[in-house]
Amino acid sequence: MSKSIKKNMSVEEIIIIGGSYAAILALKTVLSSKTKTFNITLISPNEFTFFNVAVPRLLIDNSLIDKTIFRLDEVIENLQKGTNHKVTHIKSTVTKVELDDKKVVTTNDKEYSYNYLIIASGSRSISPLWKLDNEKSNEYNIGSIKNFTNKIKQAKTIAIIGGGSTGVETAGELATEYPNKKVTIYTGSSGPLSGSLPNHVNSTTSKLEKLGVEIINNERVTTKDNEITLSNGKTKQYDLVIEAQKLIPNTEFLLKKYLDEQGFIKTDNYFRVPQNHEVIVIGDILSIGLHSLVDLNYNQKSIFENIIKFEIFKEGNKIKEYKRPKNPTMLVPIGKNGGVGAFNGWNFPNFLVWLFKSRDFMIPKAKDSLT
Ligand SMILES: Cc1cc2nc3c(=O)[nH]c(=O)nc-3n(C[C@H](O)[C@H](O)[C@H](O)COP(=O)(O)OP(=O)(O)OC[C@H]3O[C@@H](n4cnc5c(N)ncnc54)[C@H](O)[C@@H]3O)c2cc1C
Repeated sequence: MSKSIKKNMSVEEIIIIGGSYAAILALKTVLSSKTKTFNITLISPNEFTFFNVAVPRLLIDNSLIDKTIFRLDEVIENLQKGTNHKVTHIKSTVTKVELDDKKVVTTNDKEYSYNYLIIASGSRSISPLWKLDNEKSNEYNIGSIKNFTNKIKQAKTIAIIGGGSTGVETAGELATEYPNKKVTIYTGSSGPLSGSLPNHVNSTTSKLEKLGVEIINNERVTTKDNEITLSNGKTKQYDLVIEAQKLIPNTEFLLKKYLDEQGFIKTDNYFRVPQNHEVIVIGDILSIGLHSLVDLNYNQKSIFENIIKFEIFKEGNKIKEYKRPKNPTMLVPIGKNGGVGAFNGWNFPNFLVWLFKSRDFMIPKAKDSLT
């Protein structure tokens, strides 16, 4: 039976769904109000925030894991210190949001009412390695990384499924660390990074091949354990198969009418759910966004801060519109000595990819994004 947790609605209640980059950004933004007082409830199943950007490097060096995780309770305590607001973390999963009743339901049928809802629920990966989960705690994620590190050490032949940045970075890391293992990448397309950095397919191919990686293009495979089935029905065995494709939007708690065809949340250009302006969306789960941290930090952030001031703080009378960037900005390390990348569509030389990402996978910047 549903148990309703009634809150004092004279104090404004804000619920944030999520416990990762976008949720922390949302929390910092809401806590900045000096004129109002909020009860903020952050709901997510993870007890640590996690710098998942570094997973390809963590797979070859588990000793770095501690530098990529931060206790959520400590992060929250530090952020709320000295403010007028109260923040509570509920370690749970949101199973339903009833927008008309302004109510959120979590596992075990617990209900929470809100005045404002911020959805930062992102996406999860089919493999446990790459992203925080919508239901399981961090152990699922970190435990899997350690488990795969051991499997990688033992394997002689490794297949990586997916030719996006996650697959390419992982192929580069494994081939650099273990030059004697046979690493094969199935890109599932015309070439590595053909979707995200189409002008860099040739340079990516040549950098991977220099490291001894075998690249198989235009082949949609299915996998079962460590066996791959090709489109012609033939099978291939590997000592280890690593899935590095497909992200699933975490929106099972919303009715389909609020979602686009892929399951991401439809909003106006100010990140509000149409007809429900008390619901604001941020991060990877935005349909109009680019599903990247670069987009979150450099494009979405100022639009989000502006709409929070307008809708929640009731300050200002102008709202800023999000414009989806047309050209890609991304850095893709291929091993420890560089990689490929683009800044607003402009080519990033190998040296700068090394400087900004491949030498340390930006781990020294993890704290800024997640605390
Ligand atoms: C290997 C890898 C490397 C990457 N590297 C880069 C990079 O270098 N640069 C870049 O720009 N981008 C990169 N990205 C993309 C980046 O990871 C995402 O943009 C980022 O994670 C989005 O953050 P988010 O907070 O929106 O969502 P997420 O990080 O997906 O977090 C979602 C949060 O919501 C919680 N949640 C989900 N469902 C529920 C629910 N039902 N109830 C409660 N809580 C829920 C989750 O537990 C989690 O806390 C990379 C991605 C991968 C996979």
